[in-house]
Amino acid sequence: MTKVKIATTILFASIIFIACSSGEQKENVVEKKDTSALPASKPDPMKFTIAMVDNAKDPTCGMPVAAGIEDTLHYNNKAIGFCSKECKDDFVKNAAKAFAAVEWKK
Ligand SMILES: [Zn+2]
Repeated sequence: MTKVKIATTILFASIIFIACSSGEQKENVVEKKDTSALPASKPDPMKFTIAMVDNAKDPTCGMPVAAGIEDTLHYNNKAIGFCSKECKDDFVKNAAKAFAAVEWKK
């Protein structure tokens, strides 16, 4: 009777130990997953770079493209960057005239 009790206690203790160590391992796996998933799920604020466009300034509002490009457009084999979608839409409305007034990179 006593032997059975001891055996049960040892078995129970080892089960707890296994449960604890496996739980620790799981935590580590989750931590690794979180750090690797972070850059992919985070939206990139610099989607477009100055190097991607041919213009120096947003042709609609005159803002330098270095301040940030939200949208781009390809017109007459040129890549034009805009500070916002609204500026791009304005450009498209009168594209031929607006294109002639674009300030290109030197
Ligand atoms: Zn603009």
